[in-house]
Amino acid sequence: MSDMNSKIKKVTKHISQNEGLIFERSSAGKAAYKLPPLDVPEVDAAKVLGSALRDGLGNMPEVSEFEIIRHFTRLSTWNYAIDLGMYPLGSCTMKYNARVNEVVVRMDGLANAHPYLPEKAAQGALRVMKDLSDALIEITGMDAITLQPAAGAHGEMTGIMLVRAYFDAKGEKRRKVLIPDSAHGTNPATAAMCGYQVENLKSNSKGMVDIESLAAQMNEDVAALMLTNPNTLGVFEEDIHKIADLMHAKGGLLYMDGANMNALVGKARPGDFGVDVMHLNLHKTFSTPHGGGGPGSGPVAIKKHLEPYLPTPVIVTKKDGTLGFDYDRPKTIGRVKAFYGNFGMHVRALAYILANGPDGLRQTTEDAVLNANYLRKKLEDVYELPFKSPSMHEVVFSHRLQAANGVKTGDIAKRLIDYGFHPYTTAFPMIVADHGAIMIEPTESEPKEELDLFIDAMRSIAEEAATNPEIILTAPHNARVQRMDEVTANRKPVLRWKPESKSATEKP
Ligand SMILES: *Cc1c(COP(=O)(O)O)cnc(C)c1O
Repeated sequence: MSDMNSKIKKVTKHISQNEGLIFERSSAGKAAYKLPPLDVPEVDAAKVLGSALRDGLGNMPEVSEFEIIRHFTRLSTWNYAIDLGMYPLGSCTMKYNARVNEVVVRMDGLANAHPYLPEKAAQGALRVMKDLSDALIEITGMDAITLQPAAGAHGEMTGIMLVRAYFDAKGEKRRKVLIPDSAHGTNPATAAMCGYQVENLKSNSKGMVDIESLAAQMNEDVAALMLTNPNTLGVFEEDIHKIADLMHAKGGLLYMDGANMNALVGKARPGDFGVDVMHLNLHKTFSTPHGGGGPGSGPVAIKKHLEPYLPTPVIVTKKDGTLGFDYDRPKTIGRVKAFYGNFGMHVRALAYILANGPDGLRQTTEDAVLNANYLRKKLEDVYELPFKSPSMHEVVFSHRLQAANGVKTGDIAKRLIDYGFHPYTTAFPMIVADHGAIMIEPTESEPKEELDLFIDAMRSIAEEAATNPEIILTAPHNARVQRMDEVTANRKPVLRWKPESKSATEKP
């Protein structure tokens, strides 16, 4: 290895083949299948389908089976994955997706259950959803739940729609939702989408909600406070009871963004500290895959006073002891998702919960917090800690010390790729000065050996920032693709392949 790489312990250079687009591999007449001879009478498709008949597939790639396999296998080797190494993306809880989840979800009766099965024939699937609901209610300390939302952001929207329905039913026209300056961007987006004015709430020097500001801003025009706890700095809101009381005293509701439940499961229950409505991210806390954009799952748990407004259908135990769906709920906000939510995620999350059991889940929380604090301790002398409050399951540093040499959080993240790690979350939360956040969440999954390699990489980069900042500013060097023009990629994305002859004249 060259000098530049002499400190890198985790990875080494490795041949990785070039791969064009599958369209570029195409040649007419190739196919990856061979159908058996037709053994039924041929029909005139045009007569059956009428104008719905398509006379061709358009520009589809024509390749052999082997070429497809190689194409996608090669592409898969370009990926970084949790199954390859630590994925320290703060706020995302990139934990191991246990294989037992996959075994269970592939069981025939669950994998092939049709959503239109009559209730009588779907008791197993209903039982999975009911048991998961009960477990999540127990874990959160709430009274009821809907499993329908397909992601955290979707859960937020559902939760705030419930808040809206609650005030509508009371004939109250509250116009505002309070949101701390440390919040995830989806929180204000949700409130705005649901028709509320967003009012920003200041954090104090500890990185927590400023109680005096809250008391001053809370009034009868505020429907809810959307609060993440532990917040996006990984800090537990120590005044959470006071916060809830302040909200409730003026008739408002407390919404909890539960993305950080990995710090609380088995230890503290939002229902016990005054939360009225919250979402969970099964793909974070409960080990279902984040996937390439989905599917996720964002159940919404609520207290009794919001129950009449839950999306339909609601799973109920009927008089004869069997499970069924209740559609007859006059105050419901209606459906928020086709069928019952992402059922495969429900199965996986329940498998995770049952495989761990109560003690295992508690241990998971303790290990997640321990791992984050181990990293904090081992890095706090080389990276600035902008907020010194105790860390829960993640730790947020800033780039202040490195920025003195012109090295920013995004640069350090790129250099981390050279060391064989997926970058941490950069520049979020935004209350860290100069957009300098270095947000690291190891999760409970990482063994000490991997944490030590990560510490080593981060310390080594801190040293480079002082002695050779150029190497960081031009990173990554060892990746298949070098530093990209992210601004152009975002402003002028090219999302569609077009054949050569057309693309010359057409703009993407
Ligand atoms: C991940 C996250 C969300 C959004 O959840 P998705 O499942 O990605 O839609 C909201 N808030 C916080 C704090 C998060 O970390």
